[in-house]
Amino acid sequence: MPNANQGRCADCAYWELVRPNEGWCRRHSPTTPDAADAVAHWPQSHAEQWCGDFVASHRTSAPAITCESCRFWRQPEAGLQPVDRGDRIASWWSNAGLCHRDAPKPNAAPGQRAYWAATHRKDRCGFAEARTDTGVEN
Ligand code: SF4
Repeated sequence: MPNANQGRCADCAYWELVRPNEGWCRRHSPTTPDAADAVAHWPQSHAEQWCGDFVASHRTSAPAITCESCRFWRQPEAGLQPVDRGDRIASWWSNAGLCHRDAPKPNAAPGQRAYWAATHRKDRCGFAEARTDTGVEN
């Protein structure tokens, strides 16, 4: 059980209800994938679960910043146009960009390419920072 300085997912600023008692934890930005145009999927948790990254929803305004207004997000002018990526419909990809919040981490495999995860412009996370430019790449 959480103590006085913690709280349950249902009361966290970074939790987004998706159905009764289940929600997405949007506390962290996506990890860098090992392939191009991989979609970021935030993990689900139960309303009564908890963790040490809890932030009471009345203590932060960060969740109000969506990817499209975050300085780490970049979108090609026509959105992303991946080849053979049927896990999202075309209209999702036209509203998608890449989250560049984190540098890729080194690992044991030599010669790896760096990629960043695809997110929708209305996604959000606890690492967002407001942007001052448009974020659209020409
Ligand atoms: S809000 Fe910013 S840091 Fe978070 S997923 Fe979107 S682009 Fe990345």
